Amino acid sequence: MRKDGESGGGKGQGSLKRAAGMIIREVPALFPATVILAVAEAAYPYIGIILSAAIVTELADSQREIGHLFFLAALMVGLNCVGGLLVAFLRQLQDVLKYKQMKLLEKSIAAKSWEMDYKTTCDPKVHEKRNMMPHWGYEHGLVTLAQQASSLLESLFVMGISIVLVVEFFSARAVGEGTVVRLLNHWIFPVVFLLLFGSNAAYGIWSAARSQKVVYQANKEIEASNNLAVSLFQSCCAEYQRGKDVRLFQAQKILLQKLSGLYGTIVKVQERAKGVARRMSVSADLGSNIFNLLVYLFVGLKAIYGAFGPGSLLKYTGMVVQMGNGVEKMFNTIREIFQNKRYLDDYFAYLDMENRAAEGSLPITDKIREDYEFEFCNVAFTYPGMEAPSLSGINCKLRKGEKVAIVGRNGSGKTTLVKLLCRLYDPQEGEILLNGVNIRQYQYEEYLEFFSTVFQDYSIFAFQLGENVAAESVYDEKAAACALENAGFGERLKTMPEGLRTQLYKYFYEDGVELSGGEGQKVAIARCLYKDAPYAILDEPTAALDPVAEADIYQRMNQFIQGKGAIYISHRLSSCHFCRRIMVFDGGRLLETGTHEELLGRQGLYYKLWNAQAKYYQS
Ligand code: ADP
Repeated sequence: MRKDGESGGGKGQGSLKRAAGMIIREVPALFPATVILAVAEAAYPYIGIILSAAIVTELADSQREIGHLFFLAALMVGLNCVGGLLVAFLRQLQDVLKYKQMKLLEKSIAAKSWEMDYKTTCDPKVHEKRNMMPHWGYEHGLVTLAQQASSLLESLFVMGISIVLVVEFFSARAVGEGTVVRLLNHWIFPVVFLLLFGSNAAYGIWSAARSQKVVYQANKEIEASNNLAVSLFQSCCAEYQRGKDVRLFQAQKILLQKLSGLYGTIVKVQERAKGVARRMSVSADLGSNIFNLLVYLFVGLKAIYGAFGPGSLLKYTGMVVQMGNGVEKMFNTIREIFQNKRYLDDYFAYLDMENRAAEGSLPITDKIREDYEFEFCNVAFTYPGMEAPSLSGINCKLRKGEKVAIVGRNGSGKTTLVKLLCRLYDPQEGEILLNGVNIRQYQYEEYLEFFSTVFQDYSIFAFQLGENVAAESVYDEKAAACALENAGFGERLKTMPEGLRTQLYKYFYEDGVELSGGEGQKVAIARCLYKDAPYAILDEPTAALDPVAEADIYQRMNQFIQGKGAIYISHRLSSCHFCRRIMVFDGGRLLETGTHEELLGRQGLYYKLWNAQAKYYQS
């Protein structure tokens, strides 16, 4: 079962608080490292400012001591070295921890994608969201939170240190007589300074809050196009198996057109977003520069009128620069935090998506496994977003020990029936019962354990052969080899360079072994046999095999399925007429049911399909 940490925990909390909690739990060293880094980065520039001011003051003093001067210079160099090294080390540490966090993000997205309802995973909007999140990478969401916390803290520390210097600066009084000196020592100056500083800060925060929405929207548009472009590139250029069709159908031109269209959109939106960011930073910079200019003027006048010496002049001008940088950093960080909150909202909305399928709690007991009966009661189902039902008015029973064949034309609803039986979807009308209880009421994972399946669009992963058969990395090698033998893969297994440990496909390893369509299907059948679940579903498991291999495998599978329940879906009617019951589907309805002989005698759709196929085999 999934740990709470992987889901982000803390459902219902604000997304910033929840993300912080998640980081503290999963990457505990990150926040302490962030705080130390913020303090070190904030304090570092002041080493130079304060000590160079002290050196200049000492130099300007007629009774200066050379020893003291050397001490100050050595202290400045030493502290600069230590501070520089500490900052570099902490930045590196933060980067490593950030990488760890990135993996946490990817793991949580993957875990949610696998546990969410199958129906939800098929929704294109969900699909888009899922693919987009890992592409945020280091720029948005969870991964940037610590960086932003560090920047905010640093700017606050800088302001704190600056405030101390500002108080010291205003306490230094200009000396002499006259209007200028009276004005410089007047209380109105600190008040004007505070007002200017406050309005500059308020404008920065206001514009940050206003612009983040525009920038976020632009980023989303860019990411959507980028995501499509990456998927297109991935599926059509990077997946070498598609290369055949691309070449033979000369699809390069249409692919390049589509990629260029997407890149064009990305550039256009990026220009717009950059324009917004530029306008924002120009107005913020203008405000800060006017503020800095006024403060410089004031510092200069006070120095001229004897409030402090050249050393302090250096210190206070340094203070103005640092304070300006601190304010700018603070506004930028606040904007980023506002913006990032939207990404975090999206991330947690994804993790919190409801899993309706997992709501049942009844266990699948040994008693049920030993004796079971499924019953479809007036079941109807329409795929999400479709108008016409793919199945309607389905009533039938499937029992232990009974092999049932499902036949019918393409699109008649055969696969949909087994998807409902496996709870990949739930019917909108009617219900499916297992031993008289609606299948929704059973514990979902235990219910899934009930089925061994081979789907038409089976998946063989780029893992080792044995891992594919067992769907686990630790498995019973003898049983896996036996399953492959029974699936008709025995001879091929002998030619595999590393036996069960042979790596399949060349995605990850140069020496990976490619499988033909028929071989892949045999491995999928072996996986079904290895699982050895109470009920078997074989949806055209042998479509890619030649008739001789098919007959051989069916015979072996019959032995394996002995005593269990099974559904066979096949287009070749000849391969399933051994089933005791055949259900004929047409247009989403169960049209006919009976044995092969009964159905032929009825001269309905089955009779027509049988004769149409028999003609080909006879000729
Ligand atoms: P069969 O297995 O008999 O060939 P299916 O059960 O796969 O037929 O499909 C029945 C109908 O449902 C078809 O019209 C098909 O287009 C439609 N269908 C299948 N899968 C989906 C889906 N994921 N979304 C929408 N419609 C679907």
